[in-house]
This record gives sequence, structure tokens and C-alpha cells, in this order.
Amino acid sequence: MVEQVDVSQRAAAIEYAIRDVVVPAVELEKQGHEIIRLNIGDPLAYEGLPTPTHMIDAYKQALDSQDNGYGPSYGLPALRQAIASTETGKGWPCSEDDVYVTHGVTEALQIIFAAFLEEGTKVLAPGPHYPPYMAYPQMYGATTVEYRLNPKDGWSIDLDDIRQKMDDSVRLLVLINPNNPTGNVATAAEVDAVFTIARDYPNCTIIADEIYDGLDFTGSLVSIASRSTDVPVIALNGVSKVYFAPGWRIGYMAWHDPEGRLALVRDGVERLLRSRLCASTPAQHGFLAGLTEDRGWLEGHRARVKQRLDYCMKRIETIDGLECEAPGGAFYLFVRITDERADSDKQWVLDLLHKHHVLVVHGSGFSPEFGAGHFRMVCLPAIDVLATAFDRIDQFING
Ligand code: PLP
Repeated sequence: MVEQVDVSQRAAAIEYAIRDVVVPAVELEKQGHEIIRLNIGDPLAYEGLPTPTHMIDAYKQALDSQDNGYGPSYGLPALRQAIASTETGKGWPCSEDDVYVTHGVTEALQIIFAAFLEEGTKVLAPGPHYPPYMAYPQMYGATTVEYRLNPKDGWSIDLDDIRQKMDDSVRLLVLINPNNPTGNVATAAEVDAVFTIARDYPNCTIIADEIYDGLDFTGSLVSIASRSTDVPVIALNGVSKVYFAPGWRIGYMAWHDPEGRLALVRDGVERLLRSRLCASTPAQHGFLAGLTEDRGWLEGHRARVKQRLDYCMKRIETIDGLECEAPGGAFYLFVRITDERADSDKQWVLDLLHKHHVLVVHGSGFSPEFGAGHFRMVCLPAIDVLATAFDRIDQFING
């Protein structure tokens, strides 16, 4: 046998539950089974949620005009300007210079973690949370500590838990609003309470992941940066969820630093951005059209998502063995498995896949501590597909 070259520990430790479960699903598909995939938060994988045509036209127009060169490292000036006005419209003074365009929120996270974290530092992130908040900080010698979301109170933020877990080594405190995977939307009072805690720790910056902010169904969502007059906030957003173009890989970070505490770390971020050249030029033109042209189309998309979400909640309520807190936003359901035969959520999910060909993601993939005993599903498929999926899930549990 050939001796294998060693893999780094940091790479070998990476897990991404949402795509890891696809491996056995693909095997089953190869055997000819039709799998209903409810695992991935990609609206384009489902019917009736296309990227708006005016955005596609702008992207194509850039390609046709040979606008295919490298762009400025921090983003096209017109796009930075449009993002700054969008963020300002959410209630805080954002200037073009506060905005950095990246290859999705995911690249923004990698850059932020690289600039903020050192050996021995911590990221405080919600439990459960979107997996990269756990996977990436360890690459920089840091650890992610989860603060609890209340599973029986709509997954609201457990402020006492944050209070207990805060210390001077916490460099980044993460709010995901609306949350993936739970769909919780924080109230203004909760956001303010988080700032009250963070204010006592001058090394702490808030990451505000607002990638689902256009899919708020509560009507009470606030921009997190708009609530701060002192604590630094980095707002993250992009084209993936609310502009229905995740494959374009365009996102941004917008820095709100009212007291000017982040000059050094910002210099580090700018160095990192320059060293990775730039984000895709034509895709930035597509996003620019999304921000500057009429956004009336979003109402139709939002209504479709809400209708599908409501249908899922209705079905879950009728299935013995499942419970779910009603999500306030985004397009996920984080479902509690009360089916007593379930030993582990991962095994339950694999059994469902193998026996009834429905693919969801085990909750422990979003937090071993706070997500265990749950699964996450997307509500994005058309209602007839969801109906079949729930028939199969019901059959699996109660059949
Ligand atoms: N942040 C959250 C909370 C997400 O759920 C996702 C994708 O599912 C992302 C970020 C990824 O964003 P992007 O596609 O811009 O990298």
C-alpha cells in the first residue's frame, strides 16, 4: 500500500453537516432511488424561486462588455456605494469606505477570523448555529464557545448564558438574525441587552450575520448595527439568500465602529483583501442591479417561502413524534424529534434517508450540545413535494 502524505489536523477536523449527509444520498441516487432533498439552503434548487432576470441581465451585460478583468480589492465603487446606502437605510451611517465586497459571507468570515483571532482567543456563537462559525475559528488557534438559544421559547437568546460565558478573551460575539438553523428573529430589546453585556468587554466586536434579513416574517427585525452607538459591529450580508443567487458567491461586510476602535484590525483585513485580489467582477454588477433596481419582486418570493413554511408547520403539528418552534424568518425548520425510538439524531436522519428517501440534516451538525435531538429541513420545495416528504416522514415514524 502507498504511504499517505499527512493531512493537516485543521483540515481533517472540518465538518459541514449540510453537505456531509449528501454523500450517502448520492449513493442511493446512483442505485436509482429518488431522494427528496431538504438539506440545503439554496432557493435555486427548488421551484418558483429564481434569481430575478434584471440581475441576470446585468451580470450578462458585464460579460458581454468584457468587464471581466480584476476589480478593486474592496469591491466595485458603485457597488460599495449602493451597499452603503442600503445599510444606511437600515438605520446607521454607513459610508462606502465601511464596505468590503467578498466572495460571499463565507469569505468575509474567513477574513474576519484571520484578522481578529489568535491562539487562546474565543468566538461566542449561538447554539445551534451555521457550521462555519465552529469550523473556521479553530484554524486560527481560537475556540468557538456556544451560547444557548432557548429551545422552548422560539430559540430566543439566553442572555444569562452569554453573561456567564463572556470574558476578555472573547474577540467576536456572533448574532445570526434571522438565525440559521432555528429561524429565530431577535427583538430590539434582546439586541440591546447583548450590547449592554458586550459594552463591558472592550476587545469584543459583534458579528451581525443578517444574510436572511429580507425574509423576516415577524415585522420586528432590526438592523443590529443600527442599535449600537459604541460597541463595534460588522454587518454581513449578500446576494445568496435574499437576492436568490447563492452560486454567484458575492457578499459583503459593512463595518460600524462608532468609537474608532478597529483601526488596526481593519488594516489587517484590508491587507488580507488585497492579498486575495478581488471578488468576481461580473457578479458584482449583477448584485448592483439587485440593490439599485426595483425590489418589488421580493414580495412574491417572500410570500411563496412563507406559504411553504406555514404548510410545513401545519404538517409537523399533526405528526406524532415531531415538534417545532415556529420560525420568525429565513427558510428553515429546526424540528425536535420526540419519537422515542430515536437514539441519536444522526442515526435517525440516516435511517429516514435509507428507508424513506428524504434527506434532512441532523441537528447535532449545528451544535452537538444544543442541536442534538433535532433535524433541520428547508421549507423551499413546492407544496406537493413537501406533502410527499411529510407523508414519508410520518410513515417512517408512525407507519
Ligand atoms: N451565514 C448564514 C447564517 C448562512 O446560513 C449561510 C448559508 O447558508 C451563509 C452565511 C453563507 O453565505 P454566503 O453564501 O454569502 O457565503
